[in-house]
Amino acid sequence: MPKLSSFAARALQRQIQDGQFARGSMLPGQRALAASLGISRSALREAVSTLEALGLLHIQPGKGVFVADGAVRATADLPASPMFDDPQVVFQFRAIVEPGAAALAAQRADAQGLKRLADIQHAMEEALHQQDLLAASEADLAFHLAIAEIAGNAMLASVIHSLEAPIAHSLRLPFADPDSEWMPALEHRVVLDAVVAHDTAAAHRAMRRHIASAAARVGLSLDLPVLESSMPLPLTPSTTGVTP
Ligand SMILES: [Zn+2]
Repeated sequence: MPKLSSFAARALQRQIQDGQFARGSMLPGQRALAASLGISRSALREAVSTLEALGLLHIQPGKGVFVADGAVRATADLPASPMFDDPQVVFQFRAIVEPGAAALAAQRADAQGLKRLADIQHAMEEALHQQDLLAASEADLAFHLAIAEIAGNAMLASVIHSLEAPIAHSLRLPFADPDSEWMPALEHRVVLDAVVAHDTAAAHRAMRRHIASAAARVGLSLDLPVLESSMPLPLTPSTTGVTP
């Protein structure tokens, strides 16, 4: 996220939490708000869409931007993902690719990689203690990017980085439910423990469960492929029945 929109999102989040903008009230017009924050309107738009994904703001097309009133958001009202409108597409992709990255990270993580993940986990838990959903979601994203990098496959890391915007959007959505805002951090803890233990199967399972659970928290079911975990990889002549 560019620095200015991140700054603006942080400032707006604070103003909402401080009650400067009451629940359900309409924010000032874009021009006035951008001027008061000292940023461009495009940076403001990005900040507003970040806070909308986190459930703090609600954009009503043609009317304006409103502070969320605390009502639970219907799945049909989820804000569209950047690049791929349907958040389900993003969650499903993530649930297919990221468990593999987590397994590889568990296999390859060195002391530096483990420290990096532990630091991110700590930052996420701190942010939640301070009710800073924006920082928590940034740490959430950092965790997933770090896993992709620690996996040590340049193509995998490149794909995940190129999809950073829709991935960031998808992981913000579950934070809109105050009852489950700790769930991502608790699920990350399970992934982290598996990576620390270099347990590839547990890391795979924990990441898959984390992403499927996150999707379920916003009402999406992912129709994931059934995996036959007992299948030997790679296939050997004896398992294919072919004699060389
Ligand atoms: Zn996560």
